[in-house]
Amino acid sequence: MFDELITAAGYEKVDEAARKLAMTKSETGREGDAIEVALGLFNEIEGGRSYIDRQGSAVFELQGDSSGPTLLIDGHIDSIPLHSASSWSHDPFGGDICDGKLFGLGICDQKASIAAMAVAVMELSKSGFTPNGRVVLVASPAEEQMEGAVLAEIVQRYQPTYAITTEPTDAKLFRSQRGRAKIQLSVTGRASHAGHARRGVNAALFGAEVIAELAKVFPKKYEDDLEFDVNCIDMITDPYPSVSTIPGSSLIRFDARFGSNQSRSSVLKEISVVADLVSKRCKGSAPSFTVSFVPANIETWNGFENHIDEFAPAWDTPSQSTLVQTAKDALETVALPSDEGFYSFCTNGSYLAGEMRIPTIGFGAGEEHVAHQVDEYVTLDSLHRTTLGLAAIVRQILK
Ligand SMILES: [Zn+2]
Repeated sequence: MFDELITAAGYEKVDEAARKLAMTKSETGREGDAIEVALGLFNEIEGGRSYIDRQGSAVFELQGDSSGPTLLIDGHIDSIPLHSASSWSHDPFGGDICDGKLFGLGICDQKASIAAMAVAVMELSKSGFTPNGRVVLVASPAEEQMEGAVLAEIVQRYQPTYAITTEPTDAKLFRSQRGRAKIQLSVTGRASHAGHARRGVNAALFGAEVIAELAKVFPKKYEDDLEFDVNCIDMITDPYPSVSTIPGSSLIRFDARFGSNQSRSSVLKEISVVADLVSKRCKGSAPSFTVSFVPANIETWNGFENHIDEFAPAWDTPSQSTLVQTAKDALETVALPSDEGFYSFCTNGSYLAGEMRIPTIGFGAGEEHVAHQVDEYVTLDSLHRTTLGLAAIVRQILK
């Protein structure tokens, strides 16, 4: 591979670091051991300082002599819980390397990239590079529960000029992402004996009609070409199990995906409008209902509690922005492709770029579709290109 930025020892180091992370369990809420591994990696970087912050991230900062921009690079260390264990052909925590692929739960999504960002800065530091400004590395918990919720204090402290989320892009430059929300429709009707069904107000029927109406309206296409979609993901009726009883209440939950033209209120309104329509159509008395975001109640591995709505906005960093153009120039210096892509899933970029308006790009190891799959893997080639690309981007932004 063409480059001068990462040494052969650096590539060996990133393989070893990624393997160690693959072998360390880090299910959301239990990331403590993996955070310690990340902290150990950060401690090996010359010249900076590292620590664990109150919301449970391992943080590294390297302040240069001059007051240039602050570049924050984030990777989430948590993984989803292991599923389909008997279907894996490699031990999900064995650190197996086979045919150039490193296997492990959460390795693509996205522990490998934490190894890549640490070794990228480690190698730059070893070569004598001093940032014109500041670089901050974050290995964060709880992304699989609520994207970016634990980054608030870090962002407050460092006020980053630019950010990179290292969710998988296979070492390509991503500059946008759809938003995500979880919305609940809570319906209160009136329970009655099923033999006297018209004396009741059926909360399940109302919920089912709203689901069916939404399915007629969505997905919608907007001029930014991003699809706005709403889908029912579950429904609970009460009483359950029902003994010859018309259900008096129901809770229906929806997953929404949308572009940066949508806001908190516009997303909620889509469901309220349809529920209103169904309500007006009701023969006899209509149930009452409320539409709201599902609350995300987070308790991090180190006991920090956070209560927020499950709303993660979309983001879109313009192609012509300084960040995107600088990153493209950087990738060209190490002969990596500089064409632009976008995330289909949701990332901590929703907080960094969507909420906090920090110009953000995505750049990480592995491919997005491999996330959450049986036999999750990252190729060592992708890991190496990502390490090289991140080193080039850090050097170019902070030169
Ligand atoms: Zn992820």
